[in-house]
Amino acid sequence: MNFSSKLLQHAVEEFGRLPGIGNKTALRLVLHLLKQSDQEVSRFTQAIDQLKEKIQYCQECYNISDEPICEICRSIKRDKSTICVVEDTRDVMAIENTNQYQGVYHVLGGLISPMDGIGPSDLKIEGLLERLRKGEVKEVILALSATMEGDTTIFYLYRKLREFDVEVSTIARGIAFGGELEYVDEITLGRSILTRVPYERNSSWK
Ligand SMILES: [Zn+2]
Repeated sequence: MNFSSKLLQHAVEEFGRLPGIGNKTALRLVLHLLKQSDQEVSRFTQAIDQLKEKIQYCQECYNISDEPICEICRSIKRDKSTICVVEDTRDVMAIENTNQYQGVYHVLGGLISPMDGIGPSDLKIEGLLERLRKGEVKEVILALSATMEGDTTIFYLYRKLREFDVEVSTIARGIAFGGELEYVDEITLGRSILTRVPYERNSSWK
């Protein structure tokens, strides 16, 4: 692309770095922003600025939060004896939308993926075990994607969790293999949490 302005080029390049945004889309977005009022643009840039600066990760569950402990972990209505383990914050949002789950979460921040060089130590697994050592947790639900990486992570976690006196369950896989949690509709996801099954019975790996 030949740009008539270095500033324009720079902005398009930055937008183009975002996932799923090609050069043409980036240019369209930048030109759109140029047409907006100063106030609208500054609201936009402020949201981006504050994102990295102010957002925190909950010290309990590692969900994205505005406070050191997130709203879900702080709530007295939530059942702290049940932890639902998920890949990232999108899964927390998807499960919360079902209104079917009253426990708390643990956000791993990814899945084990040797192909991408992501090992167990890159995920918040130690934080999960730390929570279990306190002895108040009775059940851990592994609500991970039905993908190779999800299954590898479930198997790894299951071996770690066996050391603790907790029930380990997985969400019922009405979800097709290869299915990502956030794309499953709320009713299916809600039902799959309610009808979760003990991992051992569910598993061919023993
Ligand atoms: Zn939390």
